Amino acid sequence: MTDDLLARHRAVLPSWMPLYYAEPIELVSGEGRRVTDAQGRTYLDFFGGVLTNMIGYDIAEIREAVQQQLASGIVHTSTLYLIRQQVELAEKIARLSGIPDARVFFTNSGSEANEAALLMATNYRRSHQILAVRNSYHGRTYATMGVTGNRGWSPSALNPLQVAWLHSGERLRGLLARLPEGDRIDAAVEDLREVLATQTSGDVACLIAEPIQGVGGFVHPPDGLFAGWKKVLDEHSILLVSDEVQTGWGRTGEHFWGYQAHGVTPDLLTFAKGIGNGFALAGVVGRADVLESVPAISFSTFGGNPVSAAAGNAVLDYLLDHDLQANAARVGAILGDGLRAAVAGLDQVAEVRGKGLMLAVEFVRPGTGEPDPALTGKVFEACRQGGLLVGKGGLHGNVLRMGPPLTLTEGEAREGLAILVEAIRVEVVR
Ligand code: PLP
Repeated sequence: MTDDLLARHRAVLPSWMPLYYAEPIELVSGEGRRVTDAQGRTYLDFFGGVLTNMIGYDIAEIREAVQQQLASGIVHTSTLYLIRQQVELAEKIARLSGIPDARVFFTNSGSEANEAALLMATNYRRSHQILAVRNSYHGRTYATMGVTGNRGWSPSALNPLQVAWLHSGERLRGLLARLPEGDRIDAAVEDLREVLATQTSGDVACLIAEPIQGVGGFVHPPDGLFAGWKKVLDEHSILLVSDEVQTGWGRTGEHFWGYQAHGVTPDLLTFAKGIGNGFALAGVVGRADVLESVPAISFSTFGGNPVSAAAGNAVLDYLLDHDLQANAARVGAILGDGLRAAVAGLDQVAEVRGKGLMLAVEFVRPGTGEPDPALTGKVFEACRQGGLLVGKGGLHGNVLRMGPPLTLTEGEAREGLAILVEAIRVEVVR
């Protein structure tokens, strides 16, 4: 029973590991976009873990690809032997990355992918100075926590890197949001120039940024910002690392990668989460000269193992064969437009934002505009009561996030929307 499991969880796992919901959920099965818990309650899943389930649950093509690998009798030994699925997947990702003559290094998590990207950039540039963005999240390893711009996720005062912080496109309270739209990129580029001149020696390894900040609450800077940044970065030979852990694979609907909205190609790109559809699969794809610059032998026992890589190949094929990017654009518009229309005029909703199937609602106190994490929490719980799983996030915990599997149907979008709108209505009126 979940009750017993919860007590056992609390007794043996660290208390700082978050568990969603006042009454945490144990998921025991899934099908399509629905999951069922240990008590037999079924939920429509608008979060996919944290954008981890990208295709849906129990999808035959992915199950069969993984089962075929398992049937060989070899789950994995190490990456010291040739792995056909790994090479095939690397070829596909290198081609899709948009980075000329790219190389791919597989890891098991997004944190490791960003850690590897930082290692490559610092080695290549022979500098430990990094530019990062406020309100960002890049992982839970030593270096990636160091470039995470949110104290709640980044408690270490012993950051091994020298990090200088840029402003993001924070919509509600950020400096950029107060400017007319046409001036925002110029202001952010000016900020970059100033940070470079005042907080670094100019000899910086890289700038690491999410095209849309995920954990930060799906905050997106103005389209084109990365291109504005890149002009300045190129003057100093500073590399651009695009963390696409949440924004990759067509989720935003308009592009395959988040960076494409910015009209510039990064030097390194990191990926994770959805590509394994639940199997541990992540990595870095980037310029050959940068990846090749790592001076020491550096291999990963499990990165790109045959089971995960088989899943990754099947996920990628499914994604492209079914044009899920187009589905994300179409169904995401239904969800986003429906939500905007439903909350119009509500003083408690500061903003509905996002792109494609990466959508967020930000809650504030009427009058003051202060973040309202309490209301956010109530709507979050009410959604669960209504049979809908969503996520929470944002610097102040006042953002509900939606990142459903990209196979979400129009009917499911409308069903989930109705549950969410009712949850907001009930909790706002209460
Ligand atoms: N980068 C981004 C943008 C993320 O959202 C996350 C996880 O939420 C990570 C990196 C870290 O990935 P992982 O949890 O797989 O280590």
